[in-house]
Amino acid sequence: MPTLLWFRRDLRCHDHPALLEAAREGGEVLACYVLDPRLEASAGARRLQYLYRALRNLSDNLDGELLVTRGRPEQRIPALARAISATSVHASQDHSPFGRRRDEAVGAALGEIALCATGSGYLVSPGRIIKSDGAPYRVFTPFFRAWRRHGWRAPADSGPASARWIVPADISGDISERVEIPSVTGQLIFEAGEDAARSQWREFVAANLADYRARRDRPGLDATSRMSAHLKFGTIHPRTMAVDLHSGDDAYLRELAFRDFYAAVLHHWPDSAWRNWNRDFDAIEVDDDETAKQAFEAWKDGRTGFPIVDAGMRQLASTGFMHNRVRMIVASFLVKDLHLPWQWGARWFLDQLIDGDLANNQHGWQWAAGCGTDAAPYFRVFNPDLQGAKFDPHGDYIRRWIPELADVADVHKLGTGRPSSYPEPLVDHAEERQEALRRYRRLG
Ligand SMILES: Cc1cc2nc3c(=O)[nH]c(=O)nc-3n(C[C@H](O)[C@H](O)[C@H](O)COP(=O)(O)OP(=O)(O)OC[C@H]3O[C@@H](n4cnc5c(N)ncnc54)[C@H](O)[C@@H]3O)c2cc1C
Repeated sequence: MPTLLWFRRDLRCHDHPALLEAAREGGEVLACYVLDPRLEASAGARRLQYLYRALRNLSDNLDGELLVTRGRPEQRIPALARAISATSVHASQDHSPFGRRRDEAVGAALGEIALCATGSGYLVSPGRIIKSDGAPYRVFTPFFRAWRRHGWRAPADSGPASARWIVPADISGDISERVEIPSVTGQLIFEAGEDAARSQWREFVAANLADYRARRDRPGLDATSRMSAHLKFGTIHPRTMAVDLHSGDDAYLRELAFRDFYAAVLHHWPDSAWRNWNRDFDAIEVDDDETAKQAFEAWKDGRTGFPIVDAGMRQLASTGFMHNRVRMIVASFLVKDLHLPWQWGARWFLDQLIDGDLANNQHGWQWAAGCGTDAAPYFRVFNPDLQGAKFDPHGDYIRRWIPELADVADVHKLGTGRPSSYPEPLVDHAEERQEALRRYRRLG
């Protein structure tokens, strides 16, 4: 019998367990993707461009046999399934709060037709690693140990030729709401799609994996893998990557474990998407008046007068990416120097980032704000100038993103050498540090 394969955050053909399951049904398979207007409205322009490009690559790899439609999945998926007389719909498991709600609605609307979820976009699916008493882990290091002990399967042996695909044009039933993949013209710094994911990974393994631990914290070196958007859209499975991580150094694997950890935390505490994971922090005093809003605009524009913060915010605005160390610094600055709600920063990141991912982003922010799992202790307030000097010692990253400072000898100590074209510091860091500590101490 024919089967529907519904792609979501798994825009690839290799290492795709749900594709194999759909093919195993024995009949022909219709590959489809539903452009959900709710996600198109919230994704941010660059992330959408990236999605459309990844879809085009998927469609090319399927010789054009990908049916794209637009609408509410709980209407479109049953309509497509009925149009081909499918007895089942296959998909990869989506653990996000939105994905779970959507899949429940689609499952209910499908009625007799089974919605089968196989595999996930993680090395170990959220919810699998729990303590012996059944409780979820709240701290990363013991999670990491249990996660390694648990292990994961070898990559699934799938590819475009694993299924007999239904040619969308041959479908006689009503699929009138078929749409073209939107065309995009803007430039992105990352190439999208499965082919790009696989070559990006091979290049990273050859050139940078061996020195990853030593160089990963240096934003000026471009020494990280830049695989985050590929992982977000599932154009590669982390298992495919883990095959290359057999050396003794587990620094890279640890980052993939962080990704699994935050997905698990969001799975167990879906409210932590926008609320403090540690509810003791609900009482913290934050600023949200007119002055706070102006400070927020300066932060977004990269005009705070703190070079490492501004460099990061300008990298984000101009490319849709920011180096991890700098994400930590700008987040700490927003929360502890400007005393703004972490949700403001998280929302801006989700709007701008190509790799914007609810679990990683919200828990990255909560780490910085001190209210998340394993959070930075409240008394550790990053000094932006010292962070800049430590992680961008020659100022290469700062000069790359702040042209006003291109000719300044020491970008970490501007003092009287601050060019008139570059803003004065928005706040006095030492004073705001004390203010942050005072607010945190009030929590008791
Ligand atoms: C405030 C803040 C917001 C963040 N928002 C996001 C986000 O929206 N989407 C996102 O994918 N990552 C986010 N991160 C995590 C991290 O900054 C990015 O994953 C990383 O910078 C991506 O670059 P890379 O692929 O070169 O990383 P690499 O250093 O090469 O890491 C490899 C992979 O491991 C994962 N990873 C690395 N660091 C982390 C981390 N701290 N937490 C979870 N997974 C990690 C990513 O999938 C990454 O692609 C955020 C971090 C902070 C501090």
